[in-house]
Amino acid sequence: MSGSAWQQAREQLDQAARIMNLDPNVHEVFRYPKRTLEVAIPIKLDDDSVRTFTGYRVHHNTSRGPSKGGIRYHPGVNLDEVKALAMWMTWKCAVVGIPYGGAKGGVIVDPKQLSRQELERLTRRYASEILPLIGPERDIPAPDVGTDEQVMAWIMDTYSMNQGYSVPGVVTGKPLSVGGSAGRRASTARGVTYVTVATLKHRAMPVDEARVVVQGFGKVGEPVVQFLHDQGCLVVGVGDVGGAVHNPRGLSPVGLMAHNAEAGTVAGFEGGEAIPNEDLLALECDVVIPAALEGVITEDNAEDIRARIVVEAANGPTTTEADEILHDRGIQVVPDILANAGGVAVSYFEWVQDIQAYFWTEDEVNARLRRVMEEAYIHVLEMAEERKVTMRQAATILGVSRVAEAHTTRGLFP
Ligand code: NAD
Repeated sequence: MSGSAWQQAREQLDQAARIMNLDPNVHEVFRYPKRTLEVAIPIKLDDDSVRTFTGYRVHHNTSRGPSKGGIRYHPGVNLDEVKALAMWMTWKCAVVGIPYGGAKGGVIVDPKQLSRQELERLTRRYASEILPLIGPERDIPAPDVGTDEQVMAWIMDTYSMNQGYSVPGVVTGKPLSVGGSAGRRASTARGVTYVTVATLKHRAMPVDEARVVVQGFGKVGEPVVQFLHDQGCLVVGVGDVGGAVHNPRGLSPVGLMAHNAEAGTVAGFEGGEAIPNEDLLALECDVVIPAALEGVITEDNAEDIRARIVVEAANGPTTTEADEILHDRGIQVVPDILANAGGVAVSYFEWVQDIQAYFWTEDEVNARLRRVMEEAYIHVLEMAEERKVTMRQAATILGVSRVAEAHTTRGLFP
């Protein structure tokens, strides 16, 4: 049986700790989130009735700096999921060498069911309830599933109103007009594209016409489809919550985007054949890129995957059992904490720019992002080869060892 995302995250830590001989006293600290806050979010709906939603904010570890992590609006949000996502953020920030700890937040809500006014009230009330935990020196949220630039702008405004002056550095992934960074929107997808191309090259597989399947067509999936197409890949399958489409000769990214803009889903796109969602990941292809939610590659479908490479754009898409099956079948998994770290890297750049009130060009941002991803990719590969472990184990060991170093240098308080 597959466990929860939190169980999965803990198992990954425990396994890395065993391989690297982590000091048990440090391991003990890392197994728990530092703080967990649950909040009630009562809001007035448009019909004047009041409904209360539940939200969370979790800090996993802050040894290397203030904590950083997205905010998710999704009906499936639960505390275990938020804890897992916060732990992964801790290792991810360390893997790409940025001075942050890990955090995550979420609200149990389907944002598509709320009007824009309701969404704003929900966001502002949630931001007020987690106010004691966030701030540019404490914890800096960002968008995740179901949240976007506008949600970040409302959080920035709510925090700023409470301070009495504008504090752009309290969240990242903001619109450019309120201190967002050039290049932030596509940064996660840019990083995913970079590691996908690097992995194809490393495995001596041609990038040109490499067949790719992408699950999820949101802030990450949509630009990944475009960028990989630009690199010469054939995107043969794409799916989202509404359905999936397949075309062995390649789907048109521009056509998909236009269809999605109108229909709110890729389902029904005429440039491909409709397929059931559960068939998407099993399509004949070279690379599978889950870019939706966690726990989508499990012991039940890991045997069906026909790709040689899985690049985890989503957080936690592969369960522990599935990970072993993929490894035994010789399928390489490029882990989330490396593959999707481009987003948090550019979030860091945004925060630096906000604090300095000095903004960079998109070319500068992209060039720095590339350097960060290149360096992290090489470090993870070297660790994998040196220790003869999977890329996930290597990335986790790298992340955990950097956090452990900071933790031991600071010492355990009191
Ligand atoms: P999003 O809300 O913009 O898009 C999510 C996509 O997943 C949508 O296309 C949705 O239809 C699809 N989806 C949801 N449920 C599905 C299901 N059951 N089957 C198939 N598709 C489904 O979210 P996003 O920001 O693109 O995030 C996607 C993943 O990437 C998440 O795991 C997130 O944690 C991770 N991630 C995001 C960022 C970022 O910068 N946004 C950074 C790092 C990691």
